[in-house]
Amino acid sequence: MELPPSGVGWIEVICGSMFSGKSEELIRRLRRAEIAKQKVQAFKAATDDRYDRVQIVSHSDQRLRSIPVTSSQQLEELVDPEVQVVGVDEAQFLDPGIVDVCEWLADKGVRVIVAGLDQDYLGRPFEPVPTLMAVSEYVTKVHAICMRCGNPANRSQRVVDNDERVVVGAAGTYEARCRRCFTGAADQGAETPGEPTARVEAEA
Ligand code: ZN
Repeated sequence: MELPPSGVGWIEVICGSMFSGKSEELIRRLRRAEIAKQKVQAFKAATDDRYDRVQIVSHSDQRLRSIPVTSSQQLEELVDPEVQVVGVDEAQFLDPGIVDVCEWLADKGVRVIVAGLDQDYLGRPFEPVPTLMAVSEYVTKVHAICMRCGNPANRSQRVVDNDERVVVGAAGTYEARCRRCFTGAADQGAETPGEPTARVEAEA
């Protein structure tokens, strides 16, 4: 961000695959705003209850208190009129209405920081994040490390057999993979699910 805007709102999107450090980057930005005594609100899609219902938690166990929401409308209703910075984690679990809510916030002068998966487990664009990327002022693609070959990874390889688009899980359910190592369909032969081998180091 060469020239930070002044007196207006904007939208920042942080996206990438599983284990790419999206939540960590979101927490870092929100913390800095808090240190600057800005009024911050953090929301998190409530579908994701992997670790904690009222905190944003990164895989490396950084955490930030947040408000769980199940819809964009609920988020809109819970916005504090005085808020200056709004963070949204796991945006891929929210309905398409989140795009309008983020635009509404930015239009009224709020800095909006949204983190989420940009691709699903088949490598397809995962709404609403791609649309948010289009209307945002700033996009940061963070990368994991491919758990097969060590290259930068931007895809989430599912390693358990399940055709549903949303399967919440961390270690044992997905692996970060690069373009070459990503196979699209579930890669069950990869390794025994539930064995968190290379995953900790991949959360760089
Ligand atoms: Zn690879």
